[in-house]
Amino acid sequence: MPYATDPDALGALLPGEPRYRIDQLREWLYLHPVLDAEQMTNLPLSLRRDLADRLWPFRVEAERTTDDGATIKWLFRAGDGAAIEAVLMGYPHRTTLCISSQAGCAMACTFCATGQFGFDRHLTAGEIVAQVAYAAAHLRANPMPRSPARVGNVVFMGMGEPLANYPNVREAIRRIVEVMGLSARSITVSTVGVTPGIDRLATEPWPVTLALSLHAADDHLRETLVPLNHRYPLDHILAAAARFRAEKGRRVTLEWTLMSEVNDTPDQARALGAIARELRAHVNVIPMNPTPLAPQKRPPKARIDQFVDEVRRTGATVTLRDTRGIEIDAACGQLRVSSGG
Ligand code: SF4
Repeated sequence: MPYATDPDALGALLPGEPRYRIDQLREWLYLHPVLDAEQMTNLPLSLRRDLADRLWPFRVEAERTTDDGATIKWLFRAGDGAAIEAVLMGYPHRTTLCISSQAGCAMACTFCATGQFGFDRHLTAGEIVAQVAYAAAHLRANPMPRSPARVGNVVFMGMGEPLANYPNVREAIRRIVEVMGLSARSITVSTVGVTPGIDRLATEPWPVTLALSLHAADDHLRETLVPLNHRYPLDHILAAAARFRAEKGRRVTLEWTLMSEVNDTPDQARALGAIARELRAHVNVIPMNPTPLAPQKRPPKARIDQFVDEVRRTGATVTLRDTRGIEIDAACGQLRVSSGG
């Protein structure tokens, strides 16, 4: 399958074909992706037919659209049955694609649908990049109503802990930047705190954004939400984030899934604000998308606003993220839940 191979080794897919054919294929796969090999108009018909079944390393099991066409969620299914989710969100001047790095996840965060399924396997670099290429091809063929017809931002916030699949995520970032031509600054790698991975990422040549999924401002609460906190407690994670910031000169973002009567208290807001100020980080508050698999709930609107105001009062910069696609189960792992696993 083309996407499971290194783009520099596409020749193996087209044995006996001249070099320029391989360059043409690389363009169709990575620079101007198309949904269907039939659309690779400068390739001979026989070659297009030969590639037809090998274009994507997965099939599209479900596609759901909401927000007047501005949010699309895909559930892809790999040949071995592994589920892969991606969500494309269109905004007036940008598009953001949320992609998966693993099928399932071993981190077992208690508020997360994916975490409740457990770990299936790592995604290959090809499977990660294919999510970006598929979304790009889909956007070209079906532009969103009010958004650019290209994928602008890529966030590793779908299924899986990206830094637990480091070599494949690294290679995927390399291909997205060096082969597909996206700016590294438009890529965000989100982690619940795999400290050695943060340090490794800081040594890479690409100035990606690091997003720390914090969700709690003290170890006691965080351990109940993110079991990995037992292994890498908050002071370790925050120190690694500070090193990343110093090394890369990139502002870190702190992600906070807001859960009713769990982490939405004024005390947590003030502690979060203090952490953000110390780290000179930006806070993103994301009200929880309800999931049948987790006991935590989304707070009422007034409570959400109070929390955000309290963080802001500390002097930290904070954004309240809109939660796209609640009615299509857009939170990580949820489409898989409603599709039956
Ligand atoms: S929140 Fe992220 S790291 Fe935690 S279980 Fe879900 S996918 Fe894994």
